[in-house]
Amino acid sequence: MNEHQSKKAQNIWQAVLGKIEMRIPKASFETWLKDTSGVAFDEENSTINVKVNSSFTAQYLQERMAGIIERELNNVSEKRIQVNYLQGSEIVQNSKLDTTITPIKNDNKNIFPLNPKYTFDSFVVGDTNQLAFAGAKAVSDSPGTAFNPIVFYSGVGLGKTHLLHAIGHSLRNQGKNALYITSEEFTNQYISSIKHQTTESFRLNFRNVDALLIDDLQFLIGKEQTQEGFFHTFNELHLQNKQIVVALDRPLSKLDVLQARITSRLSGGLTADIQKPSYETRMAILQSKASTLEVQFPNNIYEIMAKKTSSNIRQLEGILNRVAAWSQFNGNKATSNELLNFISNDIDFISQSSKTFTSEEVIKTVAEHFSVTQDQIKGKQRRTNFLIPRQITMYILREETSMSLSAIGKVLGNRDHSTVLHGCLKISELMLSDDKIKKQIFEIKDTLLEVNS
Ligand code: ADP
Ligand code: MG
Repeated sequence: MNEHQSKKAQNIWQAVLGKIEMRIPKASFETWLKDTSGVAFDEENSTINVKVNSSFTAQYLQERMAGIIERELNNVSEKRIQVNYLQGSEIVQNSKLDTTITPIKNDNKNIFPLNPKYTFDSFVVGDTNQLAFAGAKAVSDSPGTAFNPIVFYSGVGLGKTHLLHAIGHSLRNQGKNALYITSEEFTNQYISSIKHQTTESFRLNFRNVDALLIDDLQFLIGKEQTQEGFFHTFNELHLQNKQIVVALDRPLSKLDVLQARITSRLSGGLTADIQKPSYETRMAILQSKASTLEVQFPNNIYEIMAKKTSSNIRQLEGILNRVAAWSQFNGNKATSNELLNFISNDIDFISQSSKTFTSEEVIKTVAEHFSVTQDQIKGKQRRTNFLIPRQITMYILREETSMSLSAIGKVLGNRDHSTVLHGCLKISELMLSDDKIKKQIFEIKDTLLEVNS
């Protein structure tokens, strides 16, 4: 391309933009046209190449604004000019000419890219996320039929987004059109489609997908109009047996602030919660991430990280990344003590370390859950009615606080550390074999979290 061609392209396109700017709403102009530029003009074939930021923009301009763009181009030049939209150095295919490619497919990849790291392979399965994992796998294997919708819920940093992306990768690898979108982005697009009277194309965009993966649905709380839009999108897809995957930060039962009909739709499939990972899973996650980072630390380093960071996998990754970076910076020669010293001076790590619950809170919550008194939990009686709640208290204190075994023994009627260890192990075993106990422990932890938030 010579300089003349590019100058001419700039001038023509500037003139076109100037005209269009006066004729369409400001928001539309800013969204779709402001950042476009003419880059090359081909006299012979009367084509102009216009650079756009995303193929979605190209799509939009081709489909929704072709008329006005053509008109203004005709006004600034004597000849009929054809427009090619360029993203990077590639011409974006005109979807109207190429009907074999569903337009949304390319768009989604650009606007809502999936994190390449969030795959099923890199997801460590433990007892608190295995249902979610199995559900995600099932949905990837038979979208629209296995569980529809599938809803994942958990606190922050426990792998919901990771699973949504993993499903997205898997479906796209099978040639399916999986759209990942945050509820925030969904809201923006919906509102903007209303503003620009393009709700029809909004609907079309979503109707063309094989799977809709929508993240952080709690964002729709209080947004009545967008809930309306979501409800209809949901129904349309669901009727066509298209897979719907939802991530939420709270159980459906706590979602009464959303329209009841949405909650009721959501509960029609599989709801899978992800709880905080157990100590063992945290260790496994650390080891898996360390091997991805190609670093290796002595076991006690993982242990301290896993012990102190129980509630959030993102934080667990954070401390591991910082230690890895620091260690590499020091030529990977740091001793175990130096590493420990680094960790114990890490501000984020200290402030995140789980000290959220006090022993009083835990004892009180467990007592209330089992309808026994706090004295009965601390007392000497070994009846199962008291023994199990007592051991569960030990277990939760061990998991959720940074108390030592002897400190736990002390607040539980002055027991020694080996009794506490025995209790913790007993409950760890029961967690694996006894679903009822497991469920109770999750409920107690939920109550503790609520009380604390
Ligand atoms: P959420 O969406 O629930 O807030 P994310 O999916 O963003 O959580 O997860 C936070 C971080 O923790 C991500 O980097 C993710 O890869 C990682 N992570 C979460 N769960 C797992 C897991 N089971 N195995 C490996 N990494 C995980
Ligand atoms: Mg998330």
